[in-house]
Amino acid sequence: MASDVSSPIIPAVIIPRVGIGTDVHAFADGVPLWVGGLRWDGYEQGLAGHSDGDVIAHAACNAIFSAAGIGDLGTHFGTDRPEYAGAAGVKLLGEAARIVRAAGFEIGNIAVQVIGVRPRIGSRRQEAEEVLSAAAGAPVSISAATTDGLGMTGRGEGLVGLATALVYPVAPRG
Ligand SMILES: [Zn+2]
Repeated sequence: MASDVSSPIIPAVIIPRVGIGTDVHAFADGVPLWVGGLRWDGYEQGLAGHSDGDVIAHAACNAIFSAAGIGDLGTHFGTDRPEYAGAAGVKLLGEAARIVRAAGFEIGNIAVQVIGVRPRIGSRRQEAEEVLSAAAGAPVSISAATTDGLGMTGRGEGLVGLATALVYPVAPRG
């Protein structure tokens, strides 16, 4: 069967791909609280982690990597990449989006839900969405939930981020 390699491969139907991402960090003394790309002052504890512990940004990274089928945060920014130690979550999300686009995808949207009792995400939700959307170059929506006092999130020991993302293949650029 003959094939013309000079023809661009344009699928008849573009099939989007969904992904899933999670991230969990524990609250710890003596570190600033970064969540949703924002610094939250007035809290005694921040989130402990390899970077800034931003569960919203990290879950978003995991979701777009998952949707593109190219691994996860550990694959791209693991402890073997010391240049990302202490990196801001919003910086990681920007880099993750660049990697996903380099792999031949555009990002449709990212939806993140954060689970825990503090901080009060709703009070700065729009601000966080703007910061993360700018980093990703795609709409990022944030919602929040609690667990009725149950479990480590209910006891205020840590935060959980859950995310989904939609990406779709695009013709290679350049
Ligand atoms: Zn994380």
